[in-house]
Amino acid sequence: MDNARFADQIQQGCKALGVELGEDVTPRLQRLMGELLKWNAKVNLTAITAEEEVLEKHFLDSLAVLPEVEGAGSVLDVGAGAGFPGLPLKMARPSLAVTMVDAVGKKVGYLKAVIAVAGLGLTGTKAVHTRAEGKPEAEGLPRADRVIARAFMDLPDWLDLAPAYLAEGGHVVAMLGKAQGEDELRAQAEKRGLKLVSARAYRLPFSGAERQVASFAKQ
Ligand code: SAM
Repeated sequence: MDNARFADQIQQGCKALGVELGEDVTPRLQRLMGELLKWNAKVNLTAITAEEEVLEKHFLDSLAVLPEVEGAGSVLDVGAGAGFPGLPLKMARPSLAVTMVDAVGKKVGYLKAVIAVAGLGLTGTKAVHTRAEGKPEAEGLPRADRVIARAFMDLPDWLDLAPAYLAEGGHVVAMLGKAQGEDELRAQAEKRGLKLVSARAYRLPFSGAERQVASFAKQ
């Protein structure tokens, strides 16, 4: 995909999602896509390989949750895989302290390599190789203002695990493939001493695929 088309698709997509990016972010996102596809030819990081699909299903879907992290100082992305949503969020909001964790060493190897690429603006981002089991100190993981995951666990398991990583006043953020009713989200939260802060359905801008993002806080 040429630079102009990439920039146009990101711009159109962000407009449809209602999120804003600084001017310098798009070229860095494009370079990140180049790194991902280059590495993916050698190491299996993602099953999505067509550029248009990577742009929408990985990049725009990650950027879609910017409203849920706005105002936070730190984000922990659990089961980050090839860095989604953590890497696009960091690129979009450079002041965020982002930590990504994954149980698979080759994925964390990739994350560490892209963090080190000069000019991507990822300096200070952390990638940790461990299995997240709810023991932040033992696992070497920080507590964060937003503890987020995409395509990691079912909602009930995520709501059991994630609160252990919350900083005071933080939110657990769940990126869900299929929208659930607010009553169901509230019931799942209350069972675990959590409260539903917000639930928002959205569609990916080009395919129209449905998504939902829900935020929870300790009661
Ligand atoms: N979040 C990424 C995305 O949406 O593209 C990756 C999703 S992938 C389906 C799930 C990831 O979770 C895998 O990379 C897997 O290695 C990781 N994983 C599974 N269990 C884990 C655990 N307990 N702790 C850390 N990572 C885990």
